[in-house]
Amino acid sequence: MPGKIAVRGAGPVGCVMALLLHAAGKNVRLVQRKAVQGKAPLKPIALSHASRLILERIGAWRALEATPISTIHISQQGAFGRTCLSAADAGVPALGYVVDYASLLNCLLSRLEDSGIRIETDSGDALLVVHAEGTSNALKEKNYAQEALVALVTTSPVAARTAWERFTPEGPLALLPLGGRYCAVWGMHPERAQALCSAPEAEFLLALATAFGGRAGQFVAVGERNHAPLALRVRPSRVGVREAFVGNAAQTLHPVAGQGLNLGLRDAWDLAQVLQDAQDPGEARVLQRFAALRRLDAMASVRITDFLAEAFLGANPLAGLMRGFGLTALDICLPARRFFARRMIYGTSALP
Ligand SMILES: Cc1cc2nc3c(=O)[nH]c(=O)nc-3n(C[C@H](O)[C@H](O)[C@H](O)COP(=O)(O)OP(=O)(O)OC[C@H]3O[C@@H](n4cnc5c(N)ncnc54)[C@H](O)[C@@H]3O)c2cc1C
Repeated sequence: MPGKIAVRGAGPVGCVMALLLHAAGKNVRLVQRKAVQGKAPLKPIALSHASRLILERIGAWRALEATPISTIHISQQGAFGRTCLSAADAGVPALGYVVDYASLLNCLLSRLEDSGIRIETDSGDALLVVHAEGTSNALKEKNYAQEALVALVTTSPVAARTAWERFTPEGPLALLPLGGRYCAVWGMHPERAQALCSAPEAEFLLALATAFGGRAGQFVAVGERNHAPLALRVRPSRVGVREAFVGNAAQTLHPVAGQGLNLGLRDAWDLAQVLQDAQDPGEARVLQRFAALRRLDAMASVRITDFLAEAFLGANPLAGLMRGFGLTALDICLPARRFFARRMIYGTSALP
């Protein structure tokens, strides 16, 4: 059918892409290879304020149970220096909102249903195929030799609205508030991640307290735990002949600083904007405009997350000192804090 756009992959980016195109009056078909999983392993997603604006546009925000983040506390284990970013610094109601991946997906699936968009198994003929199938093993990868250990942790006092990012010699450790508990995302050597995933509760809590310290209170219990491999995969070109790539299909990042999905939603937003007035959505000129629009935002996000994933590794005291000065300088310089926070929230995309 003329004008048809097929979106392949009903993950969060594919669902948002289909909903944005549908809202713009486009003829869109959403295609998923296998049945969509309503249940997925625990994975906390810190949505930025910009992502909230996109989700509001498609009516998917109000039903989401999200825990707002008003402060992000950044520190390093075994050396001085810390930075505190606040929502007020960035001029937004919250620096981010933590949701579970499965809850977000379920919310988007019900928006699709409300909008009359069915998930199909065949993309048929399309003028444009938008790839949102998630990460691809075919892409060249930079392996971080790390896995992310994910765990739901209860603390005393209970988690409120502060998120914590602590750089440890073995990898970054984030504690994200989620419904009164913390969801920990901890990068570490794959063997240790597997061992801690199945370790007795007391052993796990001790390891966590040793790495994190006492700033977030006392760690008293751990619930669901899982682990996932980490790599950087970037597609050399995000467009091809009548095809465009968005979300993890275009770039898969280290989860440090929670950028991957936020970047993917900005991909979807920008592609929807570019396609708005396009007569032929698969025309090379239109797709090149999209690629040019996304280049800077994607490249900056890749560089920042790649830097943060590795810059704090190891226990070299001199490097620790330098990093400490960096964190302290950021902490005392409001314009730098504001720039950093706004860059993490909005990227370089033109948003609603
Ligand atoms: C531990 C961890 C924590 C994270 N935390 C954050 C965070 O705080 N903030 C953030 O922004 N990001 C975070 N991320 C990154 C985020 O999870 C991803 O960027 C995001 O899930 C990408 O969404 P996507 O829709 O592109 O891909 P996916 O979520 O992978 O979805 C792709 C979908 O496509 C389907 N599919 C695959 N192949 C095909 C095919 N051939 N045809 C049709 N369908 C297909 C899959 O079944 C799947 O449903 C985190 C990642 C990890 C590992």
